[in-house]
Amino acid sequence: MKNIAVIGAGTMGNGIAHVFAMNGYSVTLIDVADQALTNAIATITKNLDRMVAKERISEADKTQTLNNIQTANDLAEGVKNADLVVEAATENIDLKLKIFRQLDELTADQTVLATNTSSISITKIAAVTKRPDKVIGMHFMNPVPVMKLVEVIRGYATSDEVTANIMSLSQNLGKVPVEVNDYPGFVANRILMPMINEAIYTLFEGVAGVNEIDTVMKLGMAHPMGPLQLADFIGLDVCLSILQVLHDGFGHPKYAPCPLLVNMVTAGHLGVKSGEGFYQYEKGRKELVVADRFAKPELVS
Ligand code: NAD
Repeated sequence: MKNIAVIGAGTMGNGIAHVFAMNGYSVTLIDVADQALTNAIATITKNLDRMVAKERISEADKTQTLNNIQTANDLAEGVKNADLVVEAATENIDLKLKIFRQLDELTADQTVLATNTSSISITKIAAVTKRPDKVIGMHFMNPVPVMKLVEVIRGYATSDEVTANIMSLSQNLGKVPVEVNDYPGFVANRILMPMINEAIYTLFEGVAGVNEIDTVMKLGMAHPMGPLQLADFIGLDVCLSILQVLHDGFGHPKYAPCPLLVNMVTAGHLGVKSGEGFYQYEKGRKELVVADRFAKPELVS
């Protein structure tokens, strides 16, 4: 596999393009929004500059990496020579099914179609194509150039050969691939999201405040950030939607989203991206400030 098409030039797509290009692959980055493509190239350039400054790559490596990336706003044009497509468009099931139906028509029969979805069934996506054996999950973590893990998710029909190819390709990118089966939340979010939900329940029930909960998990469990801060970073809307996938998929009440999380999302308090979640995020402010409404936790006596 030499020619890689990456669909979606947002947070994940630009990181995925960066990593493939830096490892010598020829990448076409595709987005319907021209501005997203412009922003992605600017972000990749800035991230490469940082790597040059830290002497992790040379100026020549940076130039070569950027030369390995082309952009396209037309899907047919962007995927026509692809050996592998990695789809990282917006997390919306109807959109992803539409894209995979198109990819099945637009790419050569042997092209492998991967998705970076966090929560949508690989088996469901594969089922809209005539090549379900060549559809697979390639779940990169954010920020992609930094995080080592790739969760490689086998759909119900994914072949052994395609799985082995994607595992070794991920290693070629300097990543550590882990093979998992296609059940709701895969492994990463099946374990992470109930922990975040439990942290929100702990706050909701007044057991402890935001700082206290995050401090227990940081200092007690050596997590680099507490679960409430992490939820703010991921986006509370994203956390809610993944919990709903787990709840619907397993039908078990242990995955029921905490009512406080539902209320916060309904109110538009989504974490870092909206400026407020469990913490407040003001421009130019470095320290974490607990949002006003959680400033004085009502502890259960
Ligand atoms: P994002 O909103 O930052 O970017 C999505 C991009 O897709 C946008 O630029 C949008 O213009 C583009 N897009 C929408 N429809 C398109 C189409 N038809 N063709 C081409 N481009 C299209 O989203 P993101 O955070 O980068 O997430 C992308 C995928 O990665 C999602 O499936 C998400 O679940 C998954 N994911 C996200 C994270 C994360 O931390 N953000 C982590 C792991 C996986």
